[in-house]
Amino acid sequence: MINAEQLRSMMLYVAEKIVESEEFLTDIDIKIGDGDHGIGMSLGFRGVLKELPKAELAGAESVFSETGMILLDTMGGASGVLFGTMFISGVVRREARPAIGAADFAEIFRKSLDAIKQRGKARVGDKTMIDALEPAVVALEGAADEGLPLPAALALAAKSAEAGVEYTKQCVAKFGRAKYFKDASIGLQDPGATSVWIIWRSMAEWARENL
Ligand code: ADP
Ligand code: MG
Repeated sequence: MINAEQLRSMMLYVAEKIVESEEFLTDIDIKIGDGDHGIGMSLGFRGVLKELPKAELAGAESVFSETGMILLDTMGGASGVLFGTMFISGVVRREARPAIGAADFAEIFRKSLDAIKQRGKARVGDKTMIDALEPAVVALEGAADEGLPLPAALALAAKSAEAGVEYTKQCVAKFGRAKYFKDASIGLQDPGATSVWIIWRSMAEWARENL
């Protein structure tokens, strides 16, 4: 289980890692989009570094909702909504608890995934963030079913997200600016999926070191 203060620390670690990845994400989006993905993600997570430490937390779930609200406020654009949704939708109308575990993560991010798919209409294979998020959620659900502790569950989610990023290389983009690249997008990884992977990898790293 992870409590609210620990989850806040984990999210601040995620934010640091995204900010550090700005150039990497920019390089990916220059090849397949308009090159703004790194700047957008970095802007959003700089906002998290600034605002999340001050947020009053009603429980662990509040860390996700606060993070999502900050991303919505600071990122703007399509991916602001997508990444805001990834953190907010899973916890709306969910009672905030003092601490959550692998099964809660699975439940929360399954809901978020469904919301992103409903809003953006993308499915696995369309070369979007869904290609990393859906396998991560499936891995969390499997880990929760097996009763694995949170660090192990997050490690599996991160591995599955990474495989999802690899998978996007073979897909043709159907959404966002990348769709104008048509077959030229083959061989290139999706920027949004890459960000999702960095997020889960960072959560897994933090959990391994601190839980
Ligand atoms: P923009 O496309 O406005 O330039 P970004 O470059 O920040 O925004 O983000 C692009 C990423 O957004 C893509 O790599 C993809 O993963 C994700 N994305 C775009 N459209 C969708 C969609 N309809 N559903 C899910 N993810 C999407
Ligand atoms: Mg872009």
